[in-house]
Amino acid sequence: MNFLSLIERKRDGERLTSAEIQEFVRAYSSGKIPDYQMAALLMAIYFRGLDADETRALTFAMRDSGDVLKFATDSSRPVVDKHSTGGIGDKVSLPLAPLLACLGFRVPMISGRGLGITGGTLDKLDSIPGFQSRLSAAGITKQVEEIGCVICGQTETMCPADRLMYALRDATGTVPSIPLITASILSKKLAEGIEALVLDVKFGSGAFMQTREQAHELASTMTQIANESGVKTRALLTDMNAPLGRTAGNWLEVKESVECLDGRGPADLRELVIECAAQLLLLTGKSRDVQSARTHASQVLASGAPRRKWNEMLRAQGADLDAFQRKLQMDHAAPATVELKSRHTGFAHRADARIIGEVVRDLGAGRTTKEAAIDLDVGVDCLASNGDRMEFDSTLCRVHARTQDEALAAMQRLQTAFAISPEPVAAASRIA
Ligand code: URA
Repeated sequence: MNFLSLIERKRDGERLTSAEIQEFVRAYSSGKIPDYQMAALLMAIYFRGLDADETRALTFAMRDSGDVLKFATDSSRPVVDKHSTGGIGDKVSLPLAPLLACLGFRVPMISGRGLGITGGTLDKLDSIPGFQSRLSAAGITKQVEEIGCVICGQTETMCPADRLMYALRDATGTVPSIPLITASILSKKLAEGIEALVLDVKFGSGAFMQTREQAHELASTMTQIANESGVKTRALLTDMNAPLGRTAGNWLEVKESVECLDGRGPADLRELVIECAAQLLLLTGKSRDVQSARTHASQVLASGAPRRKWNEMLRAQGADLDAFQRKLQMDHAAPATVELKSRHTGFAHRADARIIGEVVRDLGAGRTTKEAAIDLDVGVDCLASNGDRMEFDSTLCRVHARTQDEALAAMQRLQTAFAISPEPVAAASRIA
């Protein structure tokens, strides 16, 4: 293959064939194309784009660069998953996986770590004493067949092409390209061997896609390519201008997820968990209409079975349930806490996800580089939510930090994140 001519053709806006795309993914994954040439091709794709056929070919080639999970044929237990483009306080995966298992699905939920202001599911789970997220492909399929769900990291042998290409995109300013994002996300989902997928594509100040229009474009491309690839897929567009729920930070989000599984917890988190489950019930024909799907998912969540399933999943993945239970009883696991108080009366109408995400990252909950160590117990909780009635001295949020000084510094920065309206504010649905 003359890789230089592929770069030149894409630079000049020409189409690449499926065979050419397969070949360059194979060659790059086996070290036969240098990073500088691959970086040039990625930049050409960034500017010139890929059409639907090229994007599908890239997705398949990346999926096939490594292992693809295989599950026993069992039409009564469809293999499904959810993917979120990420946001602040987005903990939906944690209650959703056991809920889906209790709804009769098999759920190989392969998740990632956080980078920048958006959190990662695996980091959240790391805050549970003893929990192991590194499983082999055989370990993943065994647990899914036996228990119904797993939440774990990608194995060494799944989608190596994406690992290499994503690292290069990260270092060359070529991440925000819709065809490259589509191929990157879907190749990993397709490698899970799933039959149906719900996508939660977020927009707003705390999301990867700032506007609803950008999120819509990404959602349309991903649903088209995924459906054409044989995975029944629907996308939700959801608002990420404010953090989801009332917590942001790894352990604090686990705690809130358990509240959701216990039938408590914030309404916006619950709404999104139920909606993701309902869409999968519809996609797989387990429910006939969206209303009965939502009712069924709500009833199963309220039954307590997903909470027991969560414990079963944690136990299977090495968690120390007694230590976990003790940690849940603690008011705070971080050494220092301070509360930010309202200086106005009225109604909360803004809790800016970007500002809150940056503060939580800087408290130590998020990474600025891929290798950075993080603090699992810091973050914010008791976040005021749109529409909350606020009195003078009501809590806008509580900061959990490593030291009192860090807590006070974070509190100063958070003052600009909140706005109080004198008029009542309706708490709107997150789902656009
Ligand atoms: N997440 C991914 O896995 N890949 C992308 O390209 C962007 C977000």
